Amino acid sequence: MLKIYNTLTKKLENFEPVSKDNIVRLYSCGMTVQDSPHIGHIRALITVDIVKRILILNGFKTYSVYNFTDIDDKLIIKMKESGVDYRIISQKNIDKFFDVFKSLNVLDFDVYPRATLHIEEIIDLIERLMDKGYAYKSKDDVYFRVNSFKNYGALSGKNIDELVEGKRIELNENKENPLDFVLWKGVKEDEPFWYSPFGKGRPGWHIECSAMSMKYLGETFDIHTGGQDLIFPHHENEIAQSECATEKKFVKYWIHNGMVNLKGEKMSKSLGNVYGAKELLNRYSPNVIRLFLLKTHYRKDIEFSVERLDESQSAYKRLIENIPKNDEEKIDEKLFFDFIDALNDDFNTPQAIGILFETVNRINLKQNDENILKNTLSKMFSSLGFKMEEKNERKDDLSKTLIEILLDVRDRLKKEKLYDMADSIRERLNENKIIVNDLKDGAVWKIED
Ligand SMILES: [Zn+2]
Repeated sequence: MLKIYNTLTKKLENFEPVSKDNIVRLYSCGMTVQDSPHIGHIRALITVDIVKRILILNGFKTYSVYNFTDIDDKLIIKMKESGVDYRIISQKNIDKFFDVFKSLNVLDFDVYPRATLHIEEIIDLIERLMDKGYAYKSKDDVYFRVNSFKNYGALSGKNIDELVEGKRIELNENKENPLDFVLWKGVKEDEPFWYSPFGKGRPGWHIECSAMSMKYLGETFDIHTGGQDLIFPHHENEIAQSECATEKKFVKYWIHNGMVNLKGEKMSKSLGNVYGAKELLNRYSPNVIRLFLLKTHYRKDIEFSVERLDESQSAYKRLIENIPKNDEEKIDEKLFFDFIDALNDDFNTPQAIGILFETVNRINLKQNDENILKNTLSKMFSSLGFKMEEKNERKDDLSKTLIEILLDVRDRLKKEKLYDMADSIRERLNENKIIVNDLKDGAVWKIED
């Protein structure tokens, strides 16, 4: 039986789906697309991927949604700084997202809605809230009346009075209560806007997710995921506005993943922006990144470091050496059950990974059940979303290392002002379909498709 830690109840609960059709409906708060994806986005994606894979192993089907917040304060700031239209910025970053997504071997979502394509649904939801007295217009904005929702604070475990106390400083005279949050922002000069019954403007961030999730998954659905940084206020606000509009329970299970800490990691020029998703994937195989992430329980924070990724890379080599090329049917059922048991206990991937490596140790002892163990290992490996690479991974690693060495040499040549030689390295790589791009933080490279 699958057990999930539910942020809402703060308890480990047996998983029972909302609907009897055996389909588990899941919404994942996606990227705000003012920038390219980074390691934090990869962690959230791998977490959802594991949740979906374990649901499927338990005999369920899934229907899942990943949204893009493509209108937001951060995007508008980016637009004003760069002079580039926000639609061009967001499309460019959505393209980058899918580029990363495809290489990660994560299961596809069924829908990828964008906020700007759901303005009608958002306006409808705000109107419902206004009609019922849960929202009010003040000057050009519309706000949600937090006092009107008695369960406010239940998800984050925050107490309304304490919250008000903390909010005193940022008093906004347009609000009835400092905790009220914006549903619709009146248009400001040089900002994108849409027409609505409450005037020209754009949606607030929180209402976007309520409108999109309920459109595709219904007014009550099974699982909502996101990073722990989204619990308050984003998810708290999603619950308030959704439950007030529908008078139904919004989400049954809330799953939140821990953060990726970058504090310990010194940025060095030769590594470039190493926590950028694309740069990370240039350096490590998707399987190594997956192993690095799954070694930590999804609810715990991860200390990001190149050394720890390198450790995962060596560990991964030990693993892959023992995966047979051709799977056979016969597996060690008891071992596989232990593995599933670990995963059914709130997706305990560190324990599951432990079982994988114990199996490797047993294989190395060359007992007579070696082939059965190898087949079991292979089944566990693919159950966790690792993908058997067609190419020779060792060769692949070596090419990557050699490219990095060449780029380091090129960097030094440039410092010595030997530009001809530096350019010839770049050209030779280019002739071999390795495209080098010089960015502010150093050179990055990719293999042309
Ligand atoms: Zn969201």
